[in-house]
Amino acid sequence: NAPGRIAGRHFLQIPGPTNVPDRILRAMDAPTMDHRSPAFARLGRACIEGMKTIFRTEGHVFIYPASGTGAWEAALVNTLSPEDEVLMVETGHFALLWKRLAERLGLKPRFIATDWRVGADAAAAEIEAILAEDRAHDIKAVCVVHNETSTGCTTDIPAIRRAIDAAHHPALFMVDTISSLASIDYRHDEWGVDVTVGGSQKGLMLPPGLSFNAVSEKAMAATAKARLPRSFWSWEEHSGPNATGYFPYTPATNLLYGLEAAIAMLHEEGLANVFARHDRHAEATRRAVRAWGLEVLCREPRNYSSSLTAVLMPDGHSADGLRARIRDAFDMSLGNGLSRLADRVFRIGHLGDFNDLMLVGTLGGIEMGLELAKVPHQKGGVAAAMSYLAATAPS
Ligand code: PLP
Repeated sequence: NAPGRIAGRHFLQIPGPTNVPDRILRAMDAPTMDHRSPAFARLGRACIEGMKTIFRTEGHVFIYPASGTGAWEAALVNTLSPEDEVLMVETGHFALLWKRLAERLGLKPRFIATDWRVGADAAAAEIEAILAEDRAHDIKAVCVVHNETSTGCTTDIPAIRRAIDAAHHPALFMVDTISSLASIDYRHDEWGVDVTVGGSQKGLMLPPGLSFNAVSEKAMAATAKARLPRSFWSWEEHSGPNATGYFPYTPATNLLYGLEAAIAMLHEEGLANVFARHDRHAEATRRAVRAWGLEVLCREPRNYSSSLTAVLMPDGHSADGLRARIRDAFDMSLGNGLSRLADRVFRIGHLGDFNDLMLVGTLGGIEMGLELAKVPHQKGGVAAAMSYLAATAPS
């Protein structure tokens, strides 16, 4: 008999939205305040300034009451004009969606293909060659996804910056960090990025509903000539009110309570420790996958993602069938395969508010699920992960 109530906490192990910690839930569980009041200005400023420390920028940060897709659109409409060429790398499903968005806006994307098993840095030489040939500077932006959430491949962002510089090309550099920000090392200023796109629902440990642009002076200057229509996303509209901690329209007040708490939690742990924790959980996960005799989708170790691992199913076995079995038996959600990877991979999210025992529980659910779904595998994945976690446990 199916129980009328499922006891215990759901395991939300998709690669975002992630588990929201109690401290953030409590911070948001408060009366909604007057967004024109002095008390709000303090919160608004704390969130904007705090996000600069997460993006590692001294430039501008804009916060939208929108999902990450909105911040993608904001990056393009604030800086570009109809018919502008943009150079993008097809690292996976999310790169494809960003390209489609650019097309709908009237931009002209040039899309470098990959086999969805590497980061965009695999195309660094091609990026350099295309930019070097573009002597008229028709290409106005290079856009890459830092952590491709559909494949679990991360891009070496400084390698792309070096390619742009080696071609002596003035294109703006735009990076999507929606599933890497606050999980994988990222440095907007130091790495010479012009627009970074982020979202609330992954490493920031918040519910969905906020997204971000971090913006360089060069990108700010580009707004003067950019002719794509914009209103809701306009950086200029935000700049004035933001200077005193306000927004041009009603902000997502309670999510901002949560954001202030999230920024504090990340700094209490220390960003370097946050990144090391994600690296360690990713390595433990890959050890489990290998011990099961399964294959990690990401082919290049230098591109391994620390926020999620995509696992290839043995031929003839359904990833969605496995995920459904695990969800029904153990109340755990895993990520599905997207577009060309549909039913071929399942994705393990190990980002956000996450610790060793949550990882052991997650891997335990998968190992039991492999048995229930009769997927050919060897035992011992959880044991391999536990050995690594024990050997590397913080003292
Ligand atoms: N980019 C990446 C890398 C993502 O992982 C996602 C969502 O998962 C998006 C963009 C789109 O963001 P949203 O679904 O919040 O609009």
